[in-house]
Amino acid sequence: MPETGLPGLARKGEELIVRFWGVRGSIPVPGPGTVRSGGNTPCVEIQYVGRETLILDAGTGIRLLGLDLDRRPRERLVAVLLFSHTHWDHIQGFPFFSPARMRNNRLVILGGRRVGPHLEHVLAGQMSDAYLPFTLDDLRADVLIKEALDGEKLVVGDTISVLPRRLNHPGGVFGYRINRRGKVVVYASDVSHPQEGLDERVVELARGADLLIHDAQFTPEERRQRPDWGHSSWEEAVEVAIQAGVRRLALFHHDPMHDDDQLDEIERQAQARFAGAFLAREGMEVRI
Ligand SMILES: [Zn+2]
Ligand SMILES: [Zn+2]
Repeated sequence: MPETGLPGLARKGEELIVRFWGVRGSIPVPGPGTVRSGGNTPCVEIQYVGRETLILDAGTGIRLLGLDLDRRPRERLVAVLLFSHTHWDHIQGFPFFSPARMRNNRLVILGGRRVGPHLEHVLAGQMSDAYLPFTLDDLRADVLIKEALDGEKLVVGDTISVLPRRLNHPGGVFGYRINRRGKVVVYASDVSHPQEGLDERVVELARGADLLIHDAQFTPEERRQRPDWGHSSWEEAVEVAIQAGVRRLALFHHDPMHDDDQLDEIERQAQARFAGAFLAREGMEVRI
C-alpha cells in the first residue's frame, strides 16, 4: 500500500516510477483502434523522491504529463527534459507543456549535439509565428537549454547519472542510460541496427538494465521492407534485451499503422521469446 494517498507520489525513497505518457511513433493516432495502446507520440516520465522530475522526449504525450504535474502539490517544479532527437514526433508537444508557463518552475532541457542547427534553434523554430501564436521566449519558467556530447557523463540533481550515447537513426539520435543508486533505465527510441546484426553500442548502453525502453516500430517483415527508416523490429529489441541481460523490456514507438489487436499479437510473440518483454501502453506505470 502507498504510504500516502496523494496520487503520483512515490512510496519509497529508493523507488523509480516510470510512466508512459506517449508511446506511438511518427504521428499521433487517436481513435477507436488505439484506445488500449494509446495514440500520443513519445513522452516518458521517470519520477523519484527528490526535487527533480526526469522526462524523456516531448511528443504529444507531454501535454498530459504537464497537466498531471500541475495537479501534484509542490511550490516549484524542477524538471530535466532529455531529447533523443528533434524529429517532430519527439518535440511537437513541447509548446503545450503547461509547467513551462509558470514563473516559479525550472526546466533544464538537454539534447545530444548533432550536426546542423542547435537544439535551442530547433525548438524556437517550431514556435515561430508561422506555426504558433506564442514563442519560446513567452514561456515564463526558467528554461535552460544545453547540448550533451556522446559519452559525456551528466549528473542530474544529487542522485542520478545520465550517460548519452549517439546511436543510429537518420539525422542522428541519442540513447540515454539513467542510473539512480544502481537502478538503471535505458531509453533507446528511434534506433536501428545493421542488417548483419545488433549495434553493439545499444547492447553496451543497455547492459544489465532494470528496464530497457527500445524502439519496436516494425514486425520483422516490415523491417526487411524498410531497411533505411531508422527503426527496429520487436525481434531486434528482444535480441538486445537478451544479449544485454536486462530484466524488463518495454516495446516502444509503435507504428501508426498498428492497431491494438496487432500490438497485442506483437506483445504475445515477444513474450514467447523473452518473458520480461511487454508492450509500452499509454498511461502505464512501471515501478523499479
Ligand atoms: Zn520517432
Ligand atoms: Zn526519429
